[in-house]
Amino acid sequence: MELASVQTIRHLSQKYGFSFSRDLGQNFLVDSRIPEAIAEGAGVEGKCVLEIGPGIGSLTVCLAARAKKLCALELDRSLLPILDETLSPFQNASVVWGDVLKTDLSALVSEKFGSGEKLCAVSNLPYCVTTPAILRLVGSGLFESVTVMIQKEAAKKLLCDPGGEDWCLFSALVRSRAGVKKLFSVSKGCFYPQPKVDSTVLRLELLPEKSREETEVFEKTAKAIFGQRRKNVKNTLSLLPGLTPEKAELLLISAGIDPKRRGESLSVEEISSISTLMVQRIQKDR
Ligand code: SAM
Repeated sequence: MELASVQTIRHLSQKYGFSFSRDLGQNFLVDSRIPEAIAEGAGVEGKCVLEIGPGIGSLTVCLAARAKKLCALELDRSLLPILDETLSPFQNASVVWGDVLKTDLSALVSEKFGSGEKLCAVSNLPYCVTTPAILRLVGSGLFESVTVMIQKEAAKKLLCDPGGEDWCLFSALVRSRAGVKKLFSVSKGCFYPQPKVDSTVLRLELLPEKSREETEVFEKTAKAIFGQRRKNVKNTLSLLPGLTPEKAELLLISAGIDPKRRGESLSVEEISSISTLMVQRIQKDR
């Protein structure tokens, strides 16, 4: 059965009494070349895969055909009987009901895959949870790669250069944890129901993990900087506990950054230099 087709979606919806929910971002793929290309681009051969939001399973079957094991996490219970049917040929695939924003992912993957496995996350993400879901997946420390299809505008935030209008806290938080590669664009005509905008498929390759303290200080620093992105970075940093404007200026000079620059112009590497110096200060003061 070809799952990525309007006819199949209508047939299965009727058979199981499923109706689309706009709130859950349910735009299903109806061009069979796309799920194949996502599964190929995600590089999941022989690996364990967590898929978020399988829908009726059109991407899931392409992933399961390549992966060692697959677990799909779906929030809409009414899709579970459909997935029972569409995934029945795949002994290596299972479906769990749950919310990607609330499920204990670490417990889930250790239950499903055991420990020491190379894990990939893959998703045609519902647009309503794009930002928090990506931050959760890349921040979990569980995956070597996260391949996502997201709306074109959201993808721009992860692909842009520092200082541009798309560069924001989300860009810096993700790029501090992962290298971001664009795989390909997908026209809105490849989905049913058709959304208003085109999508982009990205592969995020996770970077080596930093210490918990470094990560926390980086995130606090980035939040302060982008909280008032147009202000000069000396002023925004001085809002952090223990940093007067004078101390913030000295810190920036030590990091080789002009204190008068606007916060929004700073790259991940520059924010990292600031937060590394802050961690050193914290450790010295202990
Ligand atoms: N993978 C299918 C495809 O490509 O055709 C469906 C993708 S559709 C854009 C998003 C899917 O995510 C839907 O099945 C929806 O029910 C599910 N979903 C929405 N919010 C979710 C959440 N918070 N956690 C897990 N799944 C969610």
